[in-house]
Amino acid sequence: MRVSLATIAQWLGCPAPEGAETLWVEGVAFDSRQVRPQDLFVAAPGEKTDGHLFVSEAASRGAVAALVARPVDAPLPQLVVSDTVSALQALASRLRQEAGFQVAAVTGSVGKTTTKSMLAALLARRFRVAQTQGSRNSQLGLPAEMCNLNQDVEWFVAEAGMSRKGELTRLGEVLRPQALLYTRIAPVHLEFFPSVEAIAEAKAELIPFLDPQGVLVLNATDPYQESFSSRFSGRKLSYGLPGKSDVWADQLASRGLLGTSFTLAGPLGGFAVDLPLPGLHQVENFLGAACLARALGVPVEELAAAAGKLRAQPHRGEVHRLPSGALLVDDSYNASPVAVARMLELLAQTPGRRVAVLGEMLELGPQAPDFHREVGAKARGLCHRLFAVGGENARVLAEAFGTEGTYVASAEEAEEVLQNELREGDVVLIKGSRGIGLDRLVAALLAGR
Ligand code: ATP
Ligand code: MG
Repeated sequence: MRVSLATIAQWLGCPAPEGAETLWVEGVAFDSRQVRPQDLFVAAPGEKTDGHLFVSEAASRGAVAALVARPVDAPLPQLVVSDTVSALQALASRLRQEAGFQVAAVTGSVGKTTTKSMLAALLARRFRVAQTQGSRNSQLGLPAEMCNLNQDVEWFVAEAGMSRKGELTRLGEVLRPQALLYTRIAPVHLEFFPSVEAIAEAKAELIPFLDPQGVLVLNATDPYQESFSSRFSGRKLSYGLPGKSDVWADQLASRGLLGTSFTLAGPLGGFAVDLPLPGLHQVENFLGAACLARALGVPVEELAAAAGKLRAQPHRGEVHRLPSGALLVDDSYNASPVAVARMLELLAQTPGRRVAVLGEMLELGPQAPDFHREVGAKARGLCHRLFAVGGENARVLAEAFGTEGTYVASAEEAEEVLQNELREGDVVLIKGSRGIGLDRLVAALLAGR
C-alpha cells in the first residue's frame, strides 16, 4: 500500500493532521515491536495492555502516524477515531476495493490453518497468492495482513476465525470474498457458545458477504453443510462424499504417520495423490482445498504436482529425521483423547520400532484420570515403548501402558531420557497439550542436544 495520510483520514471520516497530504503510509502494524518505517501504528485495546501506551515506541521505530481512540502525547501525527479496530477494518475494506485482488476465505471449527495453507500452495501454481500468516485470523490480525499485501497479489487466501457471535459479520465486511470454503464444524471453542448449532450459525455469518458471482465450497460430510448451502443461491461445490460430490478420495492407502495415498476422484478430480501428511483429517482438508483450486481454474496436473510438496503446519504432524536416524513426527500443537487415539492408530501402521511420547492432556475435568488410563491401555497394542510427560495424569497413563511405559515430569526430563533411547529405525510420535511444552522437546531432539 502507498496512500497519503490525508486520503486515509478522508476514508475514515476523521480530521486530517497538518501536512497529511505529504505523509505516505506504506503499511500498518498494531504491535509496536513489529512497526516498520512508514507504517501506520494502530493503537488497539488488548487483553493485557493498551496500544495507546506504545505510540511513542512506534514513533521511534519509524511509524509515520498513529490511529488512536484518544490523542496521545507522542511525537507523531495522529488520526483520532472512536474505535480503532473498526477503523482498521474499514481501511482494509477500502484498500481491497482500491487494489482489486480477489479473496478466498476459509472458515470452520477445525482445519482452517491447514486448509488455508494447502489452498494457497495449490492456487500458487497459477496465480500470485498471499495468505494470512500462521493462525492470524482475528478481528485485528486479518485486516492488518490485508493492508500489508503487495500490490501485485491476485488472490488473498484468508483464514477467518471467531470466538464470539457477530465477529464473522465484521470480518465478512472486510473480506467480501469471491470464494468461501467451509472445513468441518465441531465442538471446539465452546466457551462462548451454548451448542454446536450456535457455532454453525455464527460461522454462517460470512455467507451473505460472498460475491453472488463467487463460489461456495462445502464439506459434504459435515452435518451443517445443508444449512450453509440454503443461504447461498450462486455456484456451489462440495467435497468428500463418493459419487455425490465434485471431488472425493478413492482407493485410500495409509502410509501411517508418513501420509496417505489416494486418487482424487469426481468431476473435478482425476489424479493420484501422495499426501505427505498423517491422518484422514488431512485428506479431508486437502479435498476442500483441491475442490476450490479446481473451481478457480488450476489444472489437474498442477494440483498433482503441488500435492506431494505440501508440508504439515508447524507442530501439526510435521515429519523430521533426527540426528540419531530415528524418524520423529511432531504433533505437539495440541491433544485430546480422540486425537491421541487416532495418531496412535497411525503410528501402529508405520514401519519400525514405535515409540510414543505423550504429554498430559489438559482441561479434561474430573474424568481426566479415566481418559488417561484409557489412552494408556489403547497404546499398549499399538506401540512398543511409551513415555508420558506431565503431572499425575501422565503417571496414570504410563502405568496403564505397562512395563514399557515410563513416566517423566517435564519436557526437559524427557529430553535426557530420549537422547539415550532413540536410534535408527525408530519412529517417534510426540503429542500432548500445548501447556506441557513438548515443542521444546522436539526442538531439543532436532538439535541433537
Ligand atoms: P484454530 O481454531 O486453533 O485456528 P484451525 O481450525 O486453524 O484451528 P488447524 O490448526 O489446521 O485448525 O488444525 C488444528 C488441529 O485440528 C489439528 O492438529 C487436528 O488435530 C485437528 N483437525 C484439523 N483438520 C481437521 C479435520 N478436517 N477434521 C477434524 N479435525 C481436524
Ligand atoms: Mg488456525
